[in-house]
Amino acid sequence: MTVISDLVQQLRERNVRTVALQFPAGLKRQSEGITHALREEGFSVIISGDPSYGACDLALDLLAYADVLVHFGHTPLLYHPNVIYEPCREDFDPAIVRKAIPFFKGKRIGIVTTVQHTHLLGDVERLLQSLGYETLIRPGEGRTPEPGQVLGCSFGAARIPEASDILFIGTGVFHPLGVQLATGMHVVALDPLAGNVEETDARTFLIRRHSVMEKARDAKHYGVIVSRKQGQNRYTLAQRLTSLSDRAYLIFMDEVNPDELLNLGFAAYVNTACPRLSYDDQIRFPVPVLTPAEFEILCGVRSWDEYSIDEI
Ligand code: SF4
Repeated sequence: MTVISDLVQQLRERNVRTVALQFPAGLKRQSEGITHALREEGFSVIISGDPSYGACDLALDLLAYADVLVHFGHTPLLYHPNVIYEPCREDFDPAIVRKAIPFFKGKRIGIVTTVQHTHLLGDVERLLQSLGYETLIRPGEGRTPEPGQVLGCSFGAARIPEASDILFIGTGVFHPLGVQLATGMHVVALDPLAGNVEETDARTFLIRRHSVMEKARDAKHYGVIVSRKQGQNRYTLAQRLTSLSDRAYLIFMDEVNPDELLNLGFAAYVNTACPRLSYDDQIRFPVPVLTPAEFEILCGVRSWDEYSIDEI
């Protein structure tokens, strides 16, 4: 978690009196402690209690009540002069990378990770290089400003065609799946906390998505969802998708949840908001929720061979 003294210094430099705090779900329990520490330093503090999924979703409305919004947990995605980003870091022992070595097919290793671990990529590189491997890490860009960083909606850092293998360091199965679907490369996923290693295989995932698409094929009407969140809004894409079918209707939403989709009553939806909604949350949704590429395949303007992971 952030070093409070650094944050206090930034707030003092900006002459802040009232500060608003925004946390993702996994860090919300830290709000009380950070608020207490900031109050001790003389600041007034308000806390956003709404869900926060990423830096694509800043609680800018709180700037009506505060001088500055501090967004915890993520790297900058949307620029605003009164927003301070405080990414969350999680350490691991770089030596854990030795566990991935038996899974490599070659000697040129592209390395990617999530924001929690980017600060340790230099140590990982040095260790692999000392063992005779060449390491490749792409510089930060756009939604992923740190070298080697991937997001659930952006896998550009993994596009390293000259690598023999891509090493993903992090937890969960979604990011390495996204890396494999975005690159078509051999992906080795290392959980640096549990020490588990897996070769990523997207086949089961693709079978599941194919089945969702088939359920949506004969839908009477499609709702094409456009997000009202600043960093998830893809209105132009949604307009283009809607033009592909006279059964498609544009729907603006802030929170995309099963109850609202049920209330709206469409037989299927096309999601242009956060890509992870279609992939991770399909199990919670009452009807198929397609990605833009999947809808294009159903509409016959893209072939199944051109299936791609949805990115913003
Ligand atoms: S769009 Fe989704 S994956 Fe991308 S930053 Fe926002 S919450 Fe994360």
